[in-house]
Amino acid sequence: TALIEARDVALSFGETPALRGASLAVGAGEVFAVMGPSGSGKSTLLHCLAGILIPDTGEVYFDGRRIDTLNEADRSALRRDAFGFVFQFGQLVPELTAEENVALPLLFSGKRRAAALAEARPWFARLGLDGLERRRSGELSGGQAQRVALARGLVARPRVLFADEPTGALDSLTGEQVMDLMVDAAHEEGTSIVLVTHEPRVAAHADREAIVRDGRATLLTAERIAS
Ligand code: ADP
Ligand code: ADP
Repeated sequence: TALIEARDVALSFGETPALRGASLAVGAGEVFAVMGPSGSGKSTLLHCLAGILIPDTGEVYFDGRRIDTLNEADRSALRRDAFGFVFQFGQLVPELTAEENVALPLLFSGKRRAAALAEARPWFARLGLDGLERRRSGELSGGQAQRVALARGLVARPRVLFADEPTGALDSLTGEQVMDLMVDAAHEEGTSIVLVTHEPRVAAHADREAIVRDGRATLLTAERIAS
């Protein structure tokens, strides 16, 4: 059974149809890559799955519950409690230290600062970031910043991690390392990953892949949906 699923989702921006009936189902603990050319609707599909955008038609389910009909407050709570996010350029807060950035989702969930930082710190050793805890994130290299962003995406132990071109700003070696860390960390936590990428080498890290063309998704590999 699917943990997160889009059924026949369509969405237009004004006159521009971004999705024209896309369906996708991702199982618990599964790494799922969404590929396709620029402008095909990948990010829009990810934003619909994540409860950021509301489709014009179609349905989105998380853990058996329909989420596209929830109000903004409930979708926001769902994103905070069950989802993590990693984007192309990390999008860290440059004035904060690396460990403060990682702790942010925990602070948003109401944890106190000391407890949040204590939970953030083990991620630094785990992701090969030892010694960078107190560095201002504006001073990190691209690969370091993306690993910090990954730690921030996983620190609250989300059920689903949404990653939109997480290696797009990195050279290919660093991108491979970030992908390995992302997949290992998520598998250890049992987190599902929905990964948007246009790079086949990045998608090769996934358990299954779909390609989005012209606002519709086609499954490329159909081996398994993890239970
Ligand atoms: P991809 O992620 O595959 O590059 P997107 O989902 O970003 O594709 O975009 C799909 C289509 O929707 C494109 O034509 C894009 O220009 C358009 N689009 C995406 N976001 C917006 C927006 N906020 N406003 C207007 N058009 C948008
Ligand atoms: P990606 O394909 O990774 O989403 P883009 O550069 O296409 O990257 O989009 C970056 C941001 O701009 C997204 O938030 C997207 O929704 C928005 N966007 C994309 N296309 C358009 C557009 N034609 N008009 C307005 N906003 C857009």
